[in-house]
Amino acid sequence: MSAAGPILEVEAIQAFYGTIQALKGVTLQVNQGEIVTLIGANGAGKSTTLRTINGLMHPKAGKIRFEGQDITTTPPHQIVAMGISQSPEGRKLFPRMSVTENLEMGAFQRKDKENFKDDTERVFEYFPRLYERRTQKAGTMSGGEQQMCAIGRALMARPKLLMLDEPSMGLAPVFIEKIFEIVVQINKDGTPVLLVEQNALMALDVANRGYVLETGRVALEGPAAELKVNDRVRKTYLGEG
Ligand code: ATP
Repeated sequence: MSAAGPILEVEAIQAFYGTIQALKGVTLQVNQGEIVTLIGANGAGKSTTLRTINGLMHPKAGKIRFEGQDITTTPPHQIVAMGISQSPEGRKLFPRMSVTENLEMGAFQRKDKENFKDDTERVFEYFPRLYERRTQKAGTMSGGEQQMCAIGRALMARPKLLMLDEPSMGLAPVFIEKIFEIVVQINKDGTPVLLVEQNALMALDVANRGYVLETGRVALEGPAAELKVNDRVRKTYLGEG
């Protein structure tokens, strides 16, 4: 596979909750080296798209390929082992465990436990604040610190693709900026990122390309810089007009 080739290919996936069709044929791609953002209003299907990729849900139609391998019906634990790791919406940390213990949980599927220390140190380099708080119970930290811990935990699996579901949710602007800066750094260090966001402006600032999801369909796609100046995007998602 070439260095700039696709790492993730989602092809015309359809997904349902009972009889409710959440995805009506979503196609998207993440290439090596990229930050790709998936933006859209509440209920557009962003989280459902991530759920079908990480295997928590299987699409009724369509295909998902990771590094060229079909993962459409692969179970979630195998998908993590293959190299897709997600920091979930709402963070979902273990609140009574310390920061270090939460990070350890992110590495639990890995066989090479001897690298645990190096990986923890790498997470602490991205997030010095987590090092200061390493013995603190995760549930007692601020929202921004918990978000850092959730991203750090996802990194502990040494992902080949990092998926982030609304990392800016509920955070103060200064934390949002910090977190996006670190996402850019993680990407520069070699990890492609699929970033789901309602905060379209911030997401399009850091992404290479973007997809705009509307009621289960991709309504627009293109280079992030183009989407940012697109009239429809500006009116609908950037609060202009
Ligand atoms: P949000 O930002 O609110 O998470 P989203 O773009 O991620 O929005 P999804 O959560 O993927 O949207 O939801 C897509 C559609 O599927 C919506 O119509 C939603 O109501 C529906 N849906 C999501 N989860 C469920 C569920 N567990 N049961 C039934 N319907 C669901």
